[in-house]
Amino acid sequence: MTAAPLSAWGNLGWPPAAEVRRCGERGAPLPAVAGTLLPYGNGRSYGDSCLNPGGTLLAMRGLDRFIAFDAGSGVLACEAGVLLADILAVFVPRGWFLPVTPGTRYVTVGGAIANDVHGKNHHAAGGFGAQVRSFELLRSDGSRRRCSPTDNADWFAATVGGLGLTGVITQAELQLRRIGGNAIAVHNRRFTGLDEFFAANAEAEHAHEYAVAWIDCLAKTPRGVLMGGNHVDAELPAPRGERNVPLTPPFSCINGLSLRAFNAAYYGKPWPTAQTVHYQPYFYPLDAIGHWNRIYGPRGFYQYQSVVPPAAAREATGEMLAAIAASGQGSFLAVLKNFGARPSPGLLSFPMPGTTLALDFPNHGAATLALFERLDAIVRAAGGRLYPAKDARMPAAMFRAGYPRLAEFTSYVDPKFSSGFWRRVMENN
Ligand SMILES: Cc1cc2nc3c(=O)[nH]c(=O)nc-3n(C[C@H](O)[C@H](O)[C@H](O)COP(=O)(O)OP(=O)(O)OC[C@H]3O[C@@H](n4cnc5c(N)ncnc54)[C@H](O)[C@@H]3O)c2cc1C
Repeated sequence: MTAAPLSAWGNLGWPPAAEVRRCGERGAPLPAVAGTLLPYGNGRSYGDSCLNPGGTLLAMRGLDRFIAFDAGSGVLACEAGVLLADILAVFVPRGWFLPVTPGTRYVTVGGAIANDVHGKNHHAAGGFGAQVRSFELLRSDGSRRRCSPTDNADWFAATVGGLGLTGVITQAELQLRRIGGNAIAVHNRRFTGLDEFFAANAEAEHAHEYAVAWIDCLAKTPRGVLMGGNHVDAELPAPRGERNVPLTPPFSCINGLSLRAFNAAYYGKPWPTAQTVHYQPYFYPLDAIGHWNRIYGPRGFYQYQSVVPPAAAREATGEMLAAIAASGQGSFLAVLKNFGARPSPGLLSFPMPGTTLALDFPNHGAATLALFERLDAIVRAAGGRLYPAKDARMPAAMFRAGYPRLAEFTSYVDPKFSSGFWRRVMENN
């Protein structure tokens, strides 16, 4: 038993867990503890959905073994604490890739399932849950269930996107996909204004398996760069080693001046229309700088990620960007993309058809929270929702409005399990 400072990516100063228990054997029972439990993967969630202040965190990284791989079907069985980075390191050289991957490869398989994470190819492939063939769910009563879309399908639906609240995923079977090399053919296109974005994005989704836009949220007229990508049969050398932000500076390095300068320079840099790159910089540009979250200083930062349905997408996205630009707050990490129509398998999965906007905000206290309230009103009026994996402050009413299957989900929550997020949105209202 050790107390370790397990934190969330936003560094917003949450109170710590009372204790941390490390899971190392997938056959071992859950520890008997007096309070509540929550599995903790690699802490790449931004807010308190991966934290359990005052309770126990079950650190899952010790379950880090590959179990079996079928080279005929591409089905990989592995423990839930395996990182996506480990899967890629072993299987890309063998010609296999993850069918869905988020914007960092430093997440665990268990964490990716529990948030039903999405990637740049949601329009074509759906979310992470769609590539999960099965997993084992261990509950605090000692029961173990094999869950798949056909086996204990109700538990499968509750646990994919289930925020770690239905029990511990000990191991999973993932469907990998064939690739002919480690390279991605990228097509870059600058756009100005949302009409141009939506038109260009429709073309990009047709021509490319992956499509995502970086957007300058501080510009008066939204502008950005749309990056379409496809796997190609080519091998490129891996990029040189990662850099690291060695410590948290005593103040945030992010302010209006540095943001505007960065965004203008980034937008203005020479973007080749077509280029072939190693998969890492295309999928994981931020992974090149270890602990980049430290640049926000000791007060930390928020991410605000919403999705709004297609009919309201143009107007609501425009309103949100106008509110952000007017506030003078915002980030260089603004991402805009469309989710496709493939239904998410989870009762609480975040993706739904529509347009998702994700932005990081330095924590300026009341001013930042006031901006979020304005954005909440736009998202709610549009019939949208916020992403719990990125959230650190959504009001209970916002969560309830966004997740119509919440009542159904609650009957699957393990009575011993809870999180800071869960108490915030379920108890404090
Ligand atoms: C730079 C960056 C880019 C990102 N890009 C994307 C993106 O493009 N798309 C996207 O969807 N997300 C994205 N994310 C968010 C990230 O993918 C998710 O928060 C992911 O779930 C984190 O996984 P983790 O292993 O770090 O788990 P944690 O953050 O530690 O935990 C996440 C959830 O999983 C639960 N959990 C962990 N392990 C288990 C287990 N074994 N059994 C049951 N429950 C478990 C936890 O209780 C918690 O609810 C990004 C995050 C960062 C920092």
